[in-house]
Amino acid sequence: MGINLERLASVFTALCEIDSPSKQEGRVAAYLKSVFVEMGAEVSEDDSAKQTGSDCGNLFVRFPDEGLDREPVFFNCHMDTVLPAIGVKVKREGEVFTSAGDTVLGSDDKAGIAVLIEVMRTLQEKNIPYGPVEYIFTTCEEVGLMGAKALDLSAIKAKIGYALDSSGINRVIVGAPAANRITAEIKGIASHAGLSPEKGISAIHLAAKAIARLKLGRLDPESTANIGLITGGTATNIIPESVLVHGEVRSHTVSKLEEYTQKMKDVFQDEIDNWTDPENIVNGKPSLDFRVVQEYPVMQLDKESAVIKRVKEAATTLDAELDYVVAGGGSDANIFNSLGIQCAIISTGMDKVHSTQETIKLSDMGLTADLVMAILT
Ligand SMILES: [Zn+2]
Repeated sequence: MGINLERLASVFTALCEIDSPSKQEGRVAAYLKSVFVEMGAEVSEDDSAKQTGSDCGNLFVRFPDEGLDREPVFFNCHMDTVLPAIGVKVKREGEVFTSAGDTVLGSDDKAGIAVLIEVMRTLQEKNIPYGPVEYIFTTCEEVGLMGAKALDLSAIKAKIGYALDSSGINRVIVGAPAANRITAEIKGIASHAGLSPEKGISAIHLAAKAIARLKLGRLDPESTANIGLITGGTATNIIPESVLVHGEVRSHTVSKLEEYTQKMKDVFQDEIDNWTDPENIVNGKPSLDFRVVQEYPVMQLDKESAVIKRVKEAATTLDAELDYVVAGGGSDANIFNSLGIQCAIISTGMDKVHSTQETIKLSDMGLTADLVMAILT
């Protein structure tokens, strides 16, 4: 559809080589501002930085309507990358991009950003009419979707949109689980492990007994649970007074998410309640503080929804076959959907993301650009 692949490649490389670990997206935001202002767009930044701690806010880019009477649509990418992300150098062999060193490449999510820039350049250059469109670039996606969670909703006019943020090609993500982050804080009683162990209550032992009883991993076809981090204790000769157990539960069904989260809590509580001191030596009892934070809400898009119909129609004009799939993780799209804005996720071709092996092919970015262009035109 007239995409300039070499120009796309050079913008992609430039973007990747501007380091932007979460909370340090400012330089990428500045680059995008200058690019889009030069293209005649209206660019604004919200004040989410106060909440996220990033060095910039989320960016909103609005292009003047260019002739086509269509429902307004937005595209979203996140500006941050996971670590290691300092000193990124891009290596290109033929049409394959990787990082040259010990960092991620950052195609997650800069491939999407580069595609959005190239699509608009092509539309403008070739005077192709397109419908109303906004681009939304978020901060801190990789650290708990913080940018999207703090987003100024009133700045978005479109009611449907697409996040360019998935591996694979010709894939549309139509569903993603909700997730709860849990923290079980167990308090015992410290005591000298050699001199007076009878007077202590080991928080680590209680936690271990509870964890051993938990059902973890895949709980059912649509739910998972994990304990991922444990911190506690101070020295080998001290009965540990406290331990923090961090984990998560995910499910595509909200009632199951609640049920599994409650079960996890019940197991910890049960171990605390069943602690006994038959000889009455210990001066106190163990306690539990079980905290649950909703990490992100569930995402479920109907096949008949406007957002899915529009991408399907676009694919038809390209003779492209799209796979509609359900993802196992949350992203900014979960947040948009929970705010009443339909948002599907489109793949960009990126692969082995969140690793130094991350890679992407130029032709796949080109196919993604064709699909975005078809959605707009
Ligand atoms: Zn991403």
